[in-house]
Amino acid sequence: MKDISTKLLVIGGGPGGYVAAIRAGQLGIPTVLVEGERLGGTCLTIGCIPSKALIHAAHEFERAQHQAGGSPLGIRVQSPSLDIAQTVRWKDGIVHRLSGGVGALLRKAGVQVIQGWAHIEDGKTVRVEPAEGEAVRVRCEHLLLATGSAPVELPMLPFGGPVVSSTGALSPESLPRRLVVVGAGYIGLELGMAYRKLGAEVAVVEAAQRILPGYDEELTQPVLDALEKSGVVLHLGCSVQGYDAQHGVHVRSARADEFALPADRVLVAVGRKPCTTGFGMESLQLDMAGRFVAVDAQCRTSMRNVWAIGDLTGDPMLAHRAMAQGEVVAEVIAGKARRFEPMAIPAVCFTDPEVVVVGRTPGEARAAGLDCIDAAFPFAANGRAMTLAATKGFVRVVARRDNHLIVGWQAVGQGVAELSAAFTLSIEMGARLEDVAGTIHAHPTLGEAVQEAALRALGHAIHI
Ligand code: FAD
Ligand code: NAD
Repeated sequence: MKDISTKLLVIGGGPGGYVAAIRAGQLGIPTVLVEGERLGGTCLTIGCIPSKALIHAAHEFERAQHQAGGSPLGIRVQSPSLDIAQTVRWKDGIVHRLSGGVGALLRKAGVQVIQGWAHIEDGKTVRVEPAEGEAVRVRCEHLLLATGSAPVELPMLPFGGPVVSSTGALSPESLPRRLVVVGAGYIGLELGMAYRKLGAEVAVVEAAQRILPGYDEELTQPVLDALEKSGVVLHLGCSVQGYDAQHGVHVRSARADEFALPADRVLVAVGRKPCTTGFGMESLQLDMAGRFVAVDAQCRTSMRNVWAIGDLTGDPMLAHRAMAQGEVVAEVIAGKARRFEPMAIPAVCFTDPEVVVVGRTPGEARAAGLDCIDAAFPFAANGRAMTLAATKGFVRVVARRDNHLIVGWQAVGQGVAELSAAFTLSIEMGARLEDVAGTIHAHPTLGEAVQEAALRALGHAIHI
């Protein structure tokens, strides 16, 4: 077995691990990164990026179909068809390019990448079994755990055959005629909507009484309307009992009625669980926070010089949170005074319409005992939204009543994901309503709704 020594060893090359390694390399810290699959992790290879590629392809296909059906814009096209194998190849091309790009960035930063599965021997020693060649023992001063998460499997609907997780749903060999989605959260709705646009009949079974239960109802109503309009059938407050190819998915309603939903494919998207077992992490006996590894504000675990970031450390399980934590850890190891204490972590759900939540909602502000004002500006009154034929939705701001400090932004509408940068920046910079209201926003843009929401909270919106 080959032996190597390094200052920092990172297990996992997802957005948490690779960002930590690149930053550490930039800071001159000798760094080794071990990745068992592909660089980029869940996010680049089976998560954020491929899902958004598929969502975009589905959106384009649906648009072409609408135009073939007679477009109010005067565009006339022949009835479109879909080559799903080519769609998947296009998506894979993006993944391949980005994963290769991460490899190049790691090389540029001087990080040594070892391809293989890491097994922890102790807090300073890790054995790596590469796919080919000799095993390597890596000794390190600092060990960073960034092993991410995996889909939750339901015992009555195990993955296999027609029952797939998001990973299978992102690389279909063919399109199902009837898809049943279990879970109306992020993945279930993003991919359920995409499959509907690609032509599948889609039914969604959700245990809670509402879709996207993590978001407030005012925000999710436009998504609910869009689902209903597109013909996605929702079964809320229901539990799944099993699947058989003849009848489909067996469902029990809240009133204990039982029925079957015919399906030739089933997407189970009921959450993700941290990857904490199978690679020797148990031997470290780290303090846990429920299922997750407990960390402090510098991402230190309970063991000296063992750090953890990303999905392994809990909610929100989002790529940008993992990246931000990774950067903090590298800088702390380099001796900088850094903490992971963001004012806000943006959350975006890429349904159609998109949903953005940054900071506190009016309900969360109330629950925290803050006396706040909130105001919304509808896209129906925004000129750019009209030119995009996308007038559904609104931007909402939440600010303290006493000093107008902005504590939250929410939006729902087409393309609002891109507003998340402005929302988060305003909160991190401690903006007040007057700062946003007094900033000139380009015309005509959706961003004018941001300024108008702030103006409305101050009682003098112009365009409504
Ligand atoms: P991961 O990205 O999971 O990376 C962990 C890496 O560690 C993996 O590559 C794994 O192979 C490797 N690994 C694990 N154990 C070992 C070992 N023992 N040895 C070697 N390597 C190991 N988030 C967003 O912010 N926006 C989105 O739009 C979004 N969309 C998503 C869509 C889908 C379908 C899914 C599934 C997730 C999505 N997410 C999204 C969540 C996002 O992908 C995760 O939050 C993010 O990838 C977490 O990063 P991470 O670095 O913690 O872990
Ligand atoms: P989720 O937590 O978003 O949604 C899971 C849904 O399944 C919930 O609505 C829950 O009530 C429901 N559910 C749980 N058990 C059920 C059961 N037995 N039967 C029916 N419904 C059940 O989880 P997800 O959609 O699997 O996504 C996992 C994580 O990945 C997300 O929490 C998020 O952190 C991340 N993600 C983020 C994005 C994004 O940022 N746009 C996109 C996809 C995934």
